[in-house]
Amino acid sequence: LEAKLRRLELRVPQRFPDVKFLNYKSRKRILVTGGAGFVGSHLVDQLMLAGHEVIVVDNFFTGRKRNVEHWIGHENFELIHHDIVNPLFIEVDEIYHLASPASPPHYMYNPVKTIKTNTVGTINMLGLAKRVGAKVLIASTSEVYGDPEVHPQPETYWGHVNPIGPRACYDEGKRVAETLSYAYAKQERVNVRVARIFNTYGPRMHMNDGRVVSNFILQALRNETITVYGHGKQTRSFQYVSDLVDGLIALMASNYTQPVNLGNPTEHTIEEFAVIIKELVGGPSHIQQVAAVEDDPQRRKPDISRAKRNLGWEPKVPLNVGLRKTVKYFSRELQRTSHAERN
Ligand code: NAD
Ligand code: UDP
Ligand code: UDP
Repeated sequence: LEAKLRRLELRVPQRFPDVKFLNYKSRKRILVTGGAGFVGSHLVDQLMLAGHEVIVVDNFFTGRKRNVEHWIGHENFELIHHDIVNPLFIEVDEIYHLASPASPPHYMYNPVKTIKTNTVGTINMLGLAKRVGAKVLIASTSEVYGDPEVHPQPETYWGHVNPIGPRACYDEGKRVAETLSYAYAKQERVNVRVARIFNTYGPRMHMNDGRVVSNFILQALRNETITVYGHGKQTRSFQYVSDLVDGLIALMASNYTQPVNLGNPTEHTIEEFAVIIKELVGGPSHIQQVAAVEDDPQRRKPDISRAKRNLGWEPKVPLNVGLRKTVKYFSRELQRTSHAERN
């Protein structure tokens, strides 16, 4: 049949991953804004496999259809090309609001648009949630803590953000998104959840998004110099994407309405991280310090006691396991793009 359809240039019916059967009472209509992005697409996979109806809204600024193409045509799935700075009228039970550029080069590319997406876009999602009575989860960030003076960072820390620095469009945008969420909760009784997401990595990260994980892996795979910005003593704590998705789903399902840190507390200096990647990938790349970036937070590590206590959640995937999967993904992507260039 497949060969016959191909000869007739008709579309071969796609085989979808097996989704759970849910009866109409437990099946929800779930909107994922930014669902064609890195985190969003993994969340979509989990929600689809659990048997829900999923609507992805994305303007494809940093996301791409490829990340969700395996669901296109499935009866439970819908993909809408839409910019959430504009109002959106649909009927849903839950909203995961992830739409926003996330890596520093992307969110600095058009700072005004980043602010609009995180403020006007969030108002639209809260307005939608208010109208239809949906629960809404806002993807906030560890960047609300800025360059923190408290270490590790608990949710009770108010942060240390430069309001006019190069990162402000994102940091302050997300801080306003949080403020909006609690204003709508108090004034309009909207049911909100706020996830403060710490550095996350994994397959489907944007190849050229300039974040440290993608940069170092690509540099090592291409035998190029691994570029450490500044002295390399600044720290980050890296979480594998499947852990984050479990945390987001647990937070949405919980009754906990205060902000919750979702991250992996295992902390590394960027210098150490460069060595870890170089050794994992192998090859002759050497590690070099280059100019530091402005307002780079010097230490970052989540205090996750709130998530443990209220969600029963903690990350499970060790760095070496998650990195291996990510390296495999990037090396396949490199092969795919060089193959495409050759043809
Ligand atoms: P990503 O760039 O891969 O995904 C963001 C998605 O939002 C993309 O598909 C993009 O096209 C879409 N988008 C951007 N602006 C939009 C707009 N105006 N209208 C509609 N769609 C729009 O980034 P990600 O890493 O998947 O991040 C997802 C969310 O998690 C973001 O809100 C980000 O701020 C947050 N977050 C991520 C991390 C991380 O380490 N990945 C850390 C903290 C917070
Ligand atoms: N909004 C939306 N979809 C909806 C409901 C509202 O996009 O289903 C937008 C609406 O356009 C408005 C924003 O959300 O700009 C905030 O809505 P709210 O009801 O709080 O404000 P109002 O409409 O009263 O200004
Ligand atoms: N970084 C680096 N080399 C790179 C990219 C990033 O040394 O090629 C550093 C960056 O200066 C920061 C850390 O790695 O200290 C994490 O940067 P990233 O952009 O991934 O995320 P951030 O946590 O800063 O948002």
